[in-house]
Formats: sequence, C-alpha cells, structure tokens
Amino acid sequence: MTSYQILSRKYRPQTFDEVVEQSPVVTTLRNAILHDRISNAYLFCGTRGTGKTTLARLFAKAINCEHRTDAGNPCNQCSSCTEVTSGHSLDVLEIDGASNRGIDDIRELNENAFYAPTHGRCKIYIIDEVHMLTKEAFNALLKTLEEPPKNVKFFFATTEPHKVLPTIISRCQRFDLKRLSLPSIAKKLRSIADDQDTQIEEEALALIAKKADGSMRDAESLLDQALCSLTTPVTYTDVASMVGIASKDLLLQIDTAFEKGDLGAAFSIAHEVYSQGKDIPNFIEGIAEHFRTILMCKLGTVSHLSSAEMALYESQAAMYSQNQCLAILDLLNTPLLEITKFPWKQIHLEMILLSLLRSRTILPMDTILDRLEKLQHTDPSPAVRNEPSTPEPKTPEPQPVEKPPLPPKPTENFSPPVQQDEKPAEKLSLSDHQKHERILRFTSVELNGTVKK
Ligand SMILES: [Zn+2]
Repeated sequence: MTSYQILSRKYRPQTFDEVVEQSPVVTTLRNAILHDRISNAYLFCGTRGTGKTTLARLFAKAINCEHRTDAGNPCNQCSSCTEVTSGHSLDVLEIDGASNRGIDDIRELNENAFYAPTHGRCKIYIIDEVHMLTKEAFNALLKTLEEPPKNVKFFFATTEPHKVLPTIISRCQRFDLKRLSLPSIAKKLRSIADDQDTQIEEEALALIAKKADGSMRDAESLLDQALCSLTTPVTYTDVASMVGIASKDLLLQIDTAFEKGDLGAAFSIAHEVYSQGKDIPNFIEGIAEHFRTILMCKLGTVSHLSSAEMALYESQAAMYSQNQCLAILDLLNTPLLEITKFPWKQIHLEMILLSLLRSRTILPMDTILDRLEKLQHTDPSPAVRNEPSTPEPKTPEPQPVEKPPLPPKPTENFSPPVQQDEKPAEKLSLSDHQKHERILRFTSVELNGTVKK
C-alpha cells in the first residue's frame, strides 16, 4: 500500500523562493542568515494557513544546513535538511504549545536546552500555538529566553499574539504574516493541479481560493478533496456543490426575477435551495457576494474575475442601478446576522428574496428627500392636485396616500386625483407636475415599506 501524502504537506515550500507572498519577512530572514545576524527568538503571528510554522521550519533548516546556497536557501539534500523535512531532527524540535503548556513541560525544555546540538549549528525549538502556554510556563520560559544557552534559538508561532506575555514578545523579533491574496492562492493551486496532471476549471480554482479565506492550507485541503471526490475535468459547479454553496444559475435566476418583477420566483428559488440541501446562510452569503461583485462592476473596481466572468457580470450589472445594489446589500446585511436564530430557514429565505425583488420599486429615502427639496423650489401651487395622475410603468398599484411626514407645501393638502371644480395648474409645467405625482407615490411606497409602527 502506497502512502499518500496530502497536498499541503507535499507542496509545502522547501526554499525561501517557494514561499508565497510574505516577501518582507522572507527578505529579513534571508538577510539574517546571509549576514549571520540570527536573533535568539522569533515570533511568527498570523491567521491559520499563512505559513507561520512553514517559515519557522524553513528558517531553522536554512540555519543548520551544511551546504546552504548563496541565496540563503537550504540545500534540502544534506542529513540535517532531510531530518528536518521528515520531522526527525534532534536539533530542530517542534513542540505543540496546546498540549505541552504546563510548567513541567517548559522546565524539561529548559534542562534539555543546555545540551549541545547533535550535529547542527544550532538547537532550535519551534513552539507552535505558543499563546496556549500557562502563565507559569511563560515565566519559566522567560529566564531561558533572557539568557539562552549558546546556539539555542526559539521560534514561536501563534494565531493570537495578544495572549502572549509582553515580556516574551519584547524579547522576540516579531513578524506579522498577512492573509494570502486570491490570485496568489489560485496560482499555487493551478501549479499543483498541473503537477498532479488534473484538469480543473479556472473558476473552480477561484472558488476554492475564495472559500479558503486567505489560508493556503485550507485551499490545498479543499483542492485535495475536490481531486479525490470529483471526476475530471473538475468544474465550478462541482466545487460549488462540494463546498455547499448555490450554483451561479440560482443567482442568475434572482437577477432575471428582479428584472421582470417576478415575485413568485422568490418561492421557487427558496424551494430549490432548500430541497437541494444547501446551507441557507451560505446561500445568502453567496447572494451578498453576487451583489457586491455587481456593484464593484458598476464602480469599475473589479479585479478578481476571469474574462468570462467579467463579461457575465457586466451584462448582469446592466439590470441594476447603483442605488438598487446598495439597497440590496443593506437589506442582506441584517438577515446574515439573524438567520442563525430563525427556526424556519426556508420561510426566512423567501422573505429575504421577496424583499430583494420588491426593492426594485422602492426609491431610497435620499432620492425622495432630494426630489422633495427640488420641488420646494418650483413654486408649487395648490392647483397642482387638479391634474389627473400620470400612469407610471414601474411603480406598483397606486396606494392610498397618507399625509407624508415631511411637509413641502404640495403634499400637505393632497387628496386623490381629481376635483372637478378647480382650475388646472398654471404655475407648474407638465413635467414638474409629473414629477410631483411620482414623488408622492414613491413616498407612499417607501413609507409603507419602511415605517415601523
Ligand atoms: Zn542542507
């Protein structure tokens, strides 16, 4: 039986040149080796999968390498390098801070630190998740850290540097590793897929990179899963189904329903999502991401789409105004936070989709206020209300108009359309009048939609 090596281990960087992004950190570590200015302790901070322990291990390997290259890279051939790579080195010791967090563990470490390295240049302790150490353990470590035995180095890695004692941090050179960008992750995934001789769509890789949220390890694990469970060529739809998010078709259905004003689609789309067993909060997140991309498209700030996706999103963006995108994103903001508390998730999704589709006919309050203010300067006459109402193709059925709270003159005495015995408007032009009518209707719709009693 052959031993399968997971992708994140198989493709772990073995030289500084292979490290993705993090170039300021890599440059500093490389220079420390080349100029022989290696500090006693280093602290690598960052979210999961950003390469903290990988860099610590790589640095340790380079320090002890017998045939280091001119660029400061380890040779990966000598006995020291191979021992570190296989995890069997007696000079580079990896300790999990979560399971060796007590004072006794650190006392033992302190005692062993005084033994000279077996054949490497330095004895290096890599303590992962160092923030998990107890306060007593930190204090026990502090003494050794202040006056370490000759050629003993400490490399710490943590996802939560704020939990590490300041007295420890102040004795370390600290590096904050950043989340990896989508293009960098997608590029590495592409090189892995090519090396594995596997066909996978660019959009599928982009989706994996997006789901990994800046973590290369998460991305490689998802790619591993995709290559194991799906037939090739791996498509975007396959990966979307694997990670439990709705396919793009459902999102495009929302766009079509919005364009047609088809409220019934809210129920059919919610039913499809529910019956396919999709995770509903995930689906809502997908909708928010969809409208974010559309808005970015309208603002001309999209940079993460392939050319095919860009063409698709440009055509979808034509269906919405910028204000509509902003209103929809506002609307999705709250449900995302609240849906986990709601027991009837399908109904909740239907309500969200209905609100989203209805938002097509609702004007933002800013626009209404702006129009009302402009109207104030048109010298409105009470006679305006004589004019018959003008039909509006995009507004819903005229609704009974209550007294609007904001009182520009013409709205105060408004009553439904025609009174026979008064003269027609003289001071307002026809277009102003149409505008007036429209504002009153939109005001009504907006207030009906937003005012809480
Ligand atoms: Zn070597």
